[in-house]
Amino acid sequence: MDSNIAAYITFVCTSGVLNLIILFYTYWRRHHYSSIAKLFMWNTFTSMIYCFGYAFSLTSTSLEQLRFWNIVQYVGMPFFPLFGFLFVMQYLGYKLTKKRIIALLIVPFLTLLINVTNESHHFFYRIYDINSVLGAPYSEIEYGVWFIVHNIYIFSCMLAAFLLLLSRWKETDSVYRPQLFALICGQLLPVVTAFLLFIGVTPDGIDPVPMVIWFSSALYLWSITSSRMLSIMPIAKETIFNHMNDGVIVLNGTYQLIEYNQACKNMFSALNRSTIGKPFDQVWYMLTDQSFPVQLDSISDKLNVTIHHANYIYQLRISGLQQSNNSGFLIIFTDITELHILQQKLEHQAYYDELTKIYNRRAFFQQSEQSLMKAKAELSPFMIILFDIDFFKKVNDTYGHQTGDQMLVHIAQICKVELGENMLFARYGGEEFVLALTGYTLVEGENFANHLRFCIEQKPLVENERFLSVSCSFGVSVTTGATEETVYQLLQKADEALYAAKRAGRNQIRVFTEKYEFVK
Ligand code: GH3
Ligand code: MG
Ligand code: MG
Repeated sequence: MDSNIAAYITFVCTSGVLNLIILFYTYWRRHHYSSIAKLFMWNTFTSMIYCFGYAFSLTSTSLEQLRFWNIVQYVGMPFFPLFGFLFVMQYLGYKLTKKRIIALLIVPFLTLLINVTNESHHFFYRIYDINSVLGAPYSEIEYGVWFIVHNIYIFSCMLAAFLLLLSRWKETDSVYRPQLFALICGQLLPVVTAFLLFIGVTPDGIDPVPMVIWFSSALYLWSITSSRMLSIMPIAKETIFNHMNDGVIVLNGTYQLIEYNQACKNMFSALNRSTIGKPFDQVWYMLTDQSFPVQLDSISDKLNVTIHHANYIYQLRISGLQQSNNSGFLIIFTDITELHILQQKLEHQAYYDELTKIYNRRAFFQQSEQSLMKAKAELSPFMIILFDIDFFKKVNDTYGHQTGDQMLVHIAQICKVELGENMLFARYGGEEFVLALTGYTLVEGENFANHLRFCIEQKPLVENERFLSVSCSFGVSVTTGATEETVYQLLQKADEALYAAKRAGRNQIRVFTEKYEFVK
């Protein structure tokens, strides 16, 4: 055996042993890695068979031996580039279905079959012999048709994996770049070597690919141990990204869509891989028939926006990507539909009376104070009309509390229909209601109160084929806008007037005048 052969065997064996170590190591630690370790182990296993098969072929002294070890090599060689490619695909988050994997495995299996049966058809090697000049273990080969197909296939697998990895370089966080770099080199080296072999630049009769595989394996091993390649990346990128409840869209510095997650796809069903690389404004219009609510090029800091889409409400948080020198944007969509409904419900509960569905006392105070301020500013009159159902206790006692409730709803309904502009109507409490009128003269206010009184008296509540009539007493107080009175003071005055109306026999209206103070 000459020294060249011994050197080749050492190289190839080193490569095989390294693959074996990596295989054992990954198998031993498989519980710490995600499912991606499976494809990686297949890649390493098939590379190892290729290396050892080739190492043994270099010890061959006859054509039979050479041919036998050649076939052993082909148990691994057509498969390792494909497993490498599949591994890279999974690593980068592409979904791999069993059907697709099986379809891609057809060519390597055919290669193995055609090589094993070459002697009967010479489809793989037209000539396979011992090198007539150098002798065994050097071989002399003339390529058959399938040999070309096989080489194009494995070359494409390696090149595709390499280009896929390279395309992710820019968007990859610097923490993950060492492992990405290791993978890129690990893919590139066999591609270059296989290419050199294919164009005939390498020494005659020698396959240099198994000799360089050890370098790729060493890079992988380093990557696995130092940057936890198989455990960090898939969790960080695929699992977290695609299993988030929030939808995420990533844009690059020129506002093109570069990534989205599964949650986002669920929110916007028209989103698909073909939209990647397109200007985001265009994509957004395609998804929602609307232009994006924010001018992206004007965003300087974090931004919160709410949008409505397909019966859902989303909160959008937009922020610049700090890690890539602000050369991109992250848009996060959070479904706040339920929260929004709850918020509306709570707001409604806080300002509306549950029974009559009109404003409650708190809403009345808030809004009437604003109206009073406005009236004062415009020097226009502001009026409070307070009214109370007469003998309401009797309604409850005679017909029951439930009928009493219905009566309250009935009266609120009657008044709501009659309300004019700039009139605020609320349930003041119990069976008392209140109105705040802005811009009405005292006569107009009195007339309106009288109209309500008449309506209530004339429209009985119909219940169980019974007609229940009630009346109300009204107290009115007014300010011209020139005085410093508050809503509270006006309410007190209206209450006094109402009290006077009750004492005067009920079912009537009284306007507050100072004389009541003496009557009391
Ligand atoms: P008047 O005002 O004419 O002097 O007589 P009244 O019988 O209406 O007297 P009062 O204001 O003292 O009684 C109010 C009654 O209204 C007492 C209470 O049981 C009843 N009431 C208060 N809030 C409600 C309610 O939400 N539903 C029902 N059914 N009754 C209520
Ligand atoms: Mg009453
Ligand atoms: Mg009362």
